[in-house]
Amino acid sequence: MSAPAPLALGAPPPIPQAARDRVTARLASGRLHRYREGGGASGAVAELEAAFAELIGTRYAVATNSCGSALYLALLGAGVQPGMPVLMSAFTLAPVIGAIVNAGARPVAVEITSDLVLDLDDLADKAAATGARHLLVSHMRGHVCDLERLADHCDRLGLALIEDCAHSLGATWAGRPTGAFGLAGAFSFQSWKHVNAGEGGILVTSDDDLAARAILHSGSYMLYRQNGTCPPDAVMARWRDRCANFSLRLSEIAAEIALPQIDELPARAADWNASHDRIAAGLASVHGVALAHRPEAEGYVQSSLQFRLPGLAAPQMAAFVAACRDGGLFLKWFGMAEAEGYTSAPRHWSDLPGAPGAPRTQAILDTLCDFRLPLGLAPAACDRIVAIIAAALGQATARRTA
Ligand SMILES: *Cc1c(COP(=O)(O)O)cnc(C)c1O
Repeated sequence: MSAPAPLALGAPPPIPQAARDRVTARLASGRLHRYREGGGASGAVAELEAAFAELIGTRYAVATNSCGSALYLALLGAGVQPGMPVLMSAFTLAPVIGAIVNAGARPVAVEITSDLVLDLDDLADKAAATGARHLLVSHMRGHVCDLERLADHCDRLGLALIEDCAHSLGATWAGRPTGAFGLAGAFSFQSWKHVNAGEGGILVTSDDDLAARAILHSGSYMLYRQNGTCPPDAVMARWRDRCANFSLRLSEIAAEIALPQIDELPARAADWNASHDRIAAGLASVHGVALAHRPEAEGYVQSSLQFRLPGLAAPQMAAFVAACRDGGLFLKWFGMAEAEGYTSAPRHWSDLPGAPGAPRTQAILDTLCDFRLPLGLAPAACDRIVAIIAAALGQATARRTA
């Protein structure tokens, strides 16, 4: 019997015709860098910044060459100094730790709950134990914690809150966008996120000084008045001769690609959530599968789906993942002995400075699987995914009792 055809889940969000037209016009102009001496009409990066600040409801947005860069600038702008401890979600992606290490700071992992969101009790413990002044929370894979409670906790604990929103563009808590709850937020335009510009990121904040520092560090030279949003002159004057230029700018081409996709976000969210909800409903009736509880206040946008198999030990998990892959579903598994592709977990970071251990998170991730949801996934494909998982789980469980 030949293996079933693999499900194609890898397609990035498509580039709209309007973006292609904008790129063509941009190329014809030759003006591919965001700044120009002598002023002139503002460019696409500035337009993107203004649009993003409006979308999230912050006073400022600063475009960068990646979300990792935006996080790095948020940390610097929030006053992180070399050697300081910075609290971060233990369930995250490698560039988040990288941003902290890049700032010369020491990552301290905060555990997550089995609902895949930050554990606020562990946050209080780690804040007290380390004296940290900063928290970088990841809304990893689109799972958003109670952001009102988190913001209150941070106020009480004296923590500056920075939100990593690489997976949560369009997601809300109590109707308010992620990225608007903390001192700063950061989004990604990498191809597998909600807006596909290949590479790129953006920082949002309403804090004058953080915005000024981020703009100057991002590489504005003294042309920052051309930014889409910029603090008043008096604020810029405080920082303009004190912030090194790290050249982390976004290109005009990337901004032209991103801009028309912002208008498509509501339709994309509806498309992703329709697939997610259909598959989640199917998995809810498969014995042995655990899905994260989603509170009423969480307005999620799920461009991927996560589930756990809490009853399985590592060898059965490995057998389950292999059976899914044989069945045509390429699952990612956070419990793998070695990091694979984009997927990593606390045990894979042990050689980094500070080695942020998170045993409870690792135990949760040891039975956590994940797959992408491309836009336009047919209902039949959603149902096939449920069937593949159910069959593979049956095989893995039979193996356990054999
Ligand atoms: C992709 C991602 C980032 C970093 O985004 P880049 O634009 O690739 O730097 C940060 N955090 C999470 C959770 C991500 O998935």
